[in-house]
Amino acid sequence: MEPFDQEVVKRVVEQVISTELIEVEASGRHVHLDRETVDLLFGDGYQLTKLRDLSQPGQYVCEERITLTGPKGSIKNVVILGPERNKSQVEISFTDALILGIRNVPVRDSGNTENTPSIILDSGKNSVQLENGTIVAKRHIHMTPEDAKRYQVTDKEIVRVKMFGMRPLIFDDVVVRVNSRYETRMHIDYDEANACGFKKGMYGRLIKKQPGGVNQ
Ligand SMILES: [Zn+2]
Repeated sequence: MEPFDQEVVKRVVEQVISTELIEVEASGRHVHLDRETVDLLFGDGYQLTKLRDLSQPGQYVCEERITLTGPKGSIKNVVILGPERNKSQVEISFTDALILGIRNVPVRDSGNTENTPSIILDSGKNSVQLENGTIVAKRHIHMTPEDAKRYQVTDKEIVRVKMFGMRPLIFDDVVVRVNSRYETRMHIDYDEANACGFKKGMYGRLIKKQPGGVNQ
């Protein structure tokens, strides 16, 4: 038998790491606020205070927290992410939707809030009812153009990601978003994280869908 070639093994492992493995992050419930909503919640001209940066360049957690309220309940201490956006958006999990009693919350790409449920935000100072903007975020991968080339995927491509947690599973219907302003990371919510026994720092394996294949 040929001797075990460590160099070949190392190259194969490196190849898999650099073309198939994606660092995964779990995003808790959070809100993005537009200028008008910040004014209403905290006072005219109020500036949100940056607490810490997120992995995506320019995105950060704010010090200020708010309470979400729906027909059946409230969730306190909800994180606000900066910077301000053009339109307010509330990202919750399906479990949160049950607690709040918000029915029919759709799975959407960030920014697509048309015909989504209403929700009440409270800063402790003022409260505002958003006409719409409540979504469950579609699971997604942020990817740099360089990584997209290496992983051989394109913007808006739908892929699968295999997770190797305590309860291994394959996430289907994962959208890849390619942009030079991104850092390459997959984002899932807490329901999805708990489903696979997620721990911080875990990686998933990207599985491309084969055109015309049985796993389409
Ligand atoms: Zn994201």
